[in-house]
This record gives sequence, C-alpha cells and structure tokens, in this order.
Amino acid sequence: MENIKEAWSGILDHLHAQDDISEVAFNMWIKCIEPCRIEQNKVIVSVHTDFQRGIIAGQYTRKLKEAFEAVWGIPFELEILCKEQPTPQPVVIESAPAAEFPAAENLFGKKSSDYEYSFENFVVGPSNKFAHAASQSVANKPAGNYNPLFIYGGSGLGKTHLLYAICNEIRKKSPGTKILYTKGEFMTNELIEALRDKSPEEFRAKYRQVDLLLIDDIQFIAGKVGVQEEFFHTFDALHQANKQIVLTSDRPPKEIATLEERLRTRFEMGLLADIQPPDLETRIAIIKRKAQLLDIAIDNDVAEYIATQLKSNVRQLEGAVRRMQAQCMLEGESPSILTAQAAIRDIKQDSQPVPVTVERIINEVSRTMLVSPDDVRSGKRSATISSARQVSQYVVRQITGLSMEAIGEEFGGRDHSTVVYAIQKVEEKMAENSSFKGMVDDIVKNISES
Ligand code: ADP
Ligand code: MG
Repeated sequence: MENIKEAWSGILDHLHAQDDISEVAFNMWIKCIEPCRIEQNKVIVSVHTDFQRGIIAGQYTRKLKEAFEAVWGIPFELEILCKEQPTPQPVVIESAPAAEFPAAENLFGKKSSDYEYSFENFVVGPSNKFAHAASQSVANKPAGNYNPLFIYGGSGLGKTHLLYAICNEIRKKSPGTKILYTKGEFMTNELIEALRDKSPEEFRAKYRQVDLLLIDDIQFIAGKVGVQEEFFHTFDALHQANKQIVLTSDRPPKEIATLEERLRTRFEMGLLADIQPPDLETRIAIIKRKAQLLDIAIDNDVAEYIATQLKSNVRQLEGAVRRMQAQCMLEGESPSILTAQAAIRDIKQDSQPVPVTVERIINEVSRTMLVSPDDVRSGKRSATISSARQVSQYVVRQITGLSMEAIGEEFGGRDHSTVVYAIQKVEEKMAENSSFKGMVDDIVKNISES
C-alpha cells in the first residue's frame, strides 16, 4: 500500500456505511483515528487519548479488521498508539550548582538542550513585549515590584515558554533558589486529595518552603471552593515572606467567573501581562528563529508564506517548521513553498480540537463539585451527586452536542427523558443563581479551551 492516508478513506467510507455504527459513534470514535503506517501484516494507527484507545480497542477492533479485509482484500492486524502525554509532575528544583540542574529536556520533554524555553529563544514583538519585559524583570529581581506576575493569553502564544524562561534564568543566576513549577490542574488535584484526606499539612509544607512558585494554567482552580481557600493561605504565606509567584492563565482573573474575590484581588495586585497573537513580522521572525534552532534554512519568501497561512498560534508555526525539517531530511529536498504547503495542510488537519471525552467532563465536574467521578456515573441519589450528574450531562450536551439518547447511554443507560430533565434543571438553576451559572460556565471554558 503506497499511501495509507489515501487508502484509509476507503476504510472510513466502508465503516460509515455500516448500519450498526451510529453517526455519533462514527464521528466520535472512528473519525479521530489517524492511520500511521503498515508494517507487515499490521495496520498501525494513532489516537489522541488513552480513553479513545480503550474504547476503540474494545468496541471497534473487529469492525476495523473486517473493513481492512473487505476494502483491501487482505486481512490485517490492528495496533493503536496513543499520543497522550502523561500529566507532568510538579518539579521541585533545589539548591545545587547550575551545572547539576536537570537538563531542559527533562522539564519540557524536548530533545536538545539548546532548544530550550529561554529568553534568548523568545522572539519579541508588539504582541508579547510587555509580558516578555515583565518576565525578564521578575527573573532579574524576584519578589521586586511585580509580585505576583500574572501572564494571560490564548493557547500557544508563549505563556509556558516565558514561565520556563523565568525559571531557567533564576536557576542560572541564583543556583540556591528553591523553585516549584506545577500545573494548575495538577495542584488542584493535589489539594483536593489533601483536603479529602484531611491532611493539608503536607501540601503546606511542600508549597510554603519554596522561594519561587510558578503555576501554569491557574484557571483550573476556578470554582473549587475548598481548594481556593487553602491556596489563598499558601499564596499569602509566600507573598508575605517575600517569595516570588508567577501564574499563567488562558484568561485574566476577572474573567474566571468563580474565582473568590480575595484571590482575584491577590492575583491582580502585582502585574497583569497579556499576550496577543503575533503580527506578521513577528510570525516571520519566529519561523526563522525556529528554523535556525532546528538547523534548516528557510528562505524569506517561504517563511512569509507560512506566516500568512498560520496566524493565531505560535505552536502551529513551530509545528510547520518541524514538519518541513522532517520532510526535507527524509526526501533530501530543500524547504520550498511546496514543502511548506504540505506541512501547513498537515498542521491544519492536526489542529482540529482534541475530542473532548465524556470522562474528562465528568472528571472536571467532579473536581469542581467535590464528588467522586464514580458516584456521578452511579445511580446514587444524594442531592450533591445528583446535581453533579445533571451538570455533567448539561456540559456534555453543550460541548459535544451528543443527542439526549447518546448522553443517556454514556451515563449508564439512562433514558433520554432523564437527560432532558437534567438539562432543564441546570438551565433553570443557572437562570436563578448567578454563582451556580458562573461555576458551570467556568467548567465549560476549562474543558473547551484546554
Ligand atoms: P502557551 O503556554 O501560551 O499555550 P507555549 O509557551 O507552550 O504556549 O508556546 C507554544 C510553542 O510556541 C512553544 O514551543 C514556544 O516555544 C513557542 N513560542 C511561543 N511564543 C514564542 C515566541 N515569541 N518566540 C519563540 N517561540 C515561541
Ligand atoms: Mg501553556
């Protein structure tokens, strides 16, 4: 088979025509499968999440194998790979000489240490110069004028890059500094567990001993009341002890609907710095910088071509350069408008949002409403659990647009009228109660924008 991507469309057509695969199931589970390659008698495909892999392996392997045989005329085995990265663990970096610090790759999952998230590698333009200057200022003088530093902006615009640049710079300059980097979602989970086990001491001991606390994507703390309370005290303890705090978020504090007022005030009392999508010139400069780091020569007209095609997300620009590098290495060509076109096509295809799973939604609702995901799926009827179940069903409907029947199925074979009722209840409560509405809106945002 010369080109598995082309051959795959035959498989899709075949499966789409099957009566026993519903339209929803087809869109949700079959369309997200990406064919990778064929090795001997095996078709290797990939999906984004482990959850998808589980469903497809369990429910669709036989159908896929039948389709291979029916369409291609030869039987094949199936192997499903998964792109999902494990959630990064928080990293505590303690006193040690600079040379002994973990290499950048350990922190970023990147390969080469010169390809790191440093200030030197950050291209500055009008859209990000304020955030960049603020980050440099914090790196030069931690706990000076800007504490906390709160960086916000859309996905793929360099927030995590700046966070790491601060971290790297301080590590280099003051090797003794105790640094803790974590993700908002991870810290939230940690705190929920600590509060559930009634042992917040460990959390306190860990978070309050550091000199520099960096939390990426703090918006995940939205709506979680107990978590915000505990974090508030940790924030204050660090701030009063003159320790630097840096936070990033996909939106400014005032747009996190269910952020407690006192935390919002704390987040806003240092410096708020936003990052906007880069203009054309900055995009061109970023492409050239990435090309230089990856050691490929991209002409100005090619760089400009890419920059006019991919506008809103730096991660995509970087992806295009990486693809061109791979293609040029494999095929011995040099980068041209043609290779750029192919790379851009791939990126645009790839950048369709990662399908949100019902499981993710239930997890986020459970975290926010402090119940266990298993209870939400169960038949338990206590008021809090029922309410979390109704909110979950509402959010599933909002985000995935699944039919009421399909949602009923996802929640343990409930009748569609139960789902209709649940959604109605949530809508009524949202209309009556603005803090409940804020909570639900935050849940929807956290899931659809991450
Ligand atoms: P965010 O955290 O805002 O979603 P990231 O910091 O992960 O975005 O950035 C996505 C990718 O784009 C990273 O590889 C980063 O190095 C790169 N990037 C973003 N902005 C810039 C910039 N101004 N200069 C160079 N690279 C950038
Ligand atoms: Mg990020």
